[in-house]
Amino acid sequence: MSKLSIRDLPLNGNRIFMRVDFNVPLDDGRVMDDTRIRETLPTIEYALRHGARLILASHLGRPKGNPNPKMSLKPVAERLRMLLDKELARGENVGFSPDCVGPEAEEVAGQLEKGQTLLLENLRFHAEEEANDEKFARQLANLADYYVNDAFGTAHRAHASTVGITKFVQKSAAGLLLEKELKYLGKALEHPEQPFVAILGGAKVSDKIGVIRNLMNKLNSLIIGGGMAYTFLKAQGQEVGKSLVEADKLDLAAQLLAEAKKQNLRFHLPVDHVVAIKPEPNTVIQQVGEGQPIPADRMALDIGPKTIELFTEEISRARTIVWNGPMGVFEVPGFSKGTFQVARAVAENAAATSIVGGGDSVAALHAAGVADKITHISTGGGASLEFLEGKKLPGVEALTDKR
Ligand code: AMP
Repeated sequence: MSKLSIRDLPLNGNRIFMRVDFNVPLDDGRVMDDTRIRETLPTIEYALRHGARLILASHLGRPKGNPNPKMSLKPVAERLRMLLDKELARGENVGFSPDCVGPEAEEVAGQLEKGQTLLLENLRFHAEEEANDEKFARQLANLADYYVNDAFGTAHRAHASTVGITKFVQKSAAGLLLEKELKYLGKALEHPEQPFVAILGGAKVSDKIGVIRNLMNKLNSLIIGGGMAYTFLKAQGQEVGKSLVEADKLDLAAQLLAEAKKQNLRFHLPVDHVVAIKPEPNTVIQQVGEGQPIPADRMALDIGPKTIELFTEEISRARTIVWNGPMGVFEVPGFSKGTFQVARAVAENAAATSIVGGGDSVAALHAAGVADKITHISTGGGASLEFLEGKKLPGVEALTDKR
């Protein structure tokens, strides 16, 4: 990687401002899922073991620039105290500051001792955070000597805590989690082991066009399922009934199919379908076989058995797999099979480097009990898509160059 890593910083005795992603679900002041806290623990523990005076900052929810006790990070400080290695979490070693900037935060940050942690209150209680306000960024920077970004999920946003602050600290580096994200996603783009297969799904073609365009000449095979497949099928002249179609993307879909053909890219779309009148539980479900038209009053809500077989076969031969987006309305039990089978197929290919991003695909891996078999589960759905589109992530660009 061309950017500094936390391993390159003089941590001992220095105050380190670490941007983390503690945007966890809360219910009545209780942390309902601490995955995001656990994912950044190795970076936090690395900093503390190397004698850092650690200041942690994050956003939580969408308080829209106003303090809101329901989105306070205070419960996260308590959970962090429980999760940290016992030796590092002794006594008062994890403090909390009720504001992320201002005299009180500066005083507590100034008094931190080596190996101690201070979690700041929600950055987005200040509208200046998302506005990347320079004065606010300088106030954050005043708390510390060096900056570490370990929040991949917000690296595609230019905010005060991801970009602005880097101008006012001595050096800025990637945390271990951010580094890992860039390593796997970067390798997929730059030197993917072949066959390289991408599986895209979800509702909208428009969200994934950039990814299709950027990956197209690197892939051996592109698998498209979910609602977005029906714009492509309609563009091929197929009867798709009431399935999701983005009418204004039909020409583009036809163009992408033609380009794929020219490049000898294997472009797989569903060949059979699970259909119903609406995407709801307890509705009548029908199968539409290969070569059959989807009835005019039905929508395709999952891929059919033949498609599962075809996709599974292609996935099993891959050496690099990127997956983002469900194969159907997997939230409704009658339409979840395709997504779960794809999750299993990706997990079962032990010879491939598998990279999965996007909340729905990651949820499907967990629900199928196969998450531990995936090489890399990305912690940022939006950020990983932008990366795969070939866009520069502002939060990464802002870090100090290695040389
Ligand atoms: P996205 O946010 O674009 O990744 O889309 C995720 C959503 O797409 C999920 O909520 C799915 O229920 C929905 N989805 C997937 N397949 C279909 C389909 N065939 N028809 C309608 N919605 C779908």
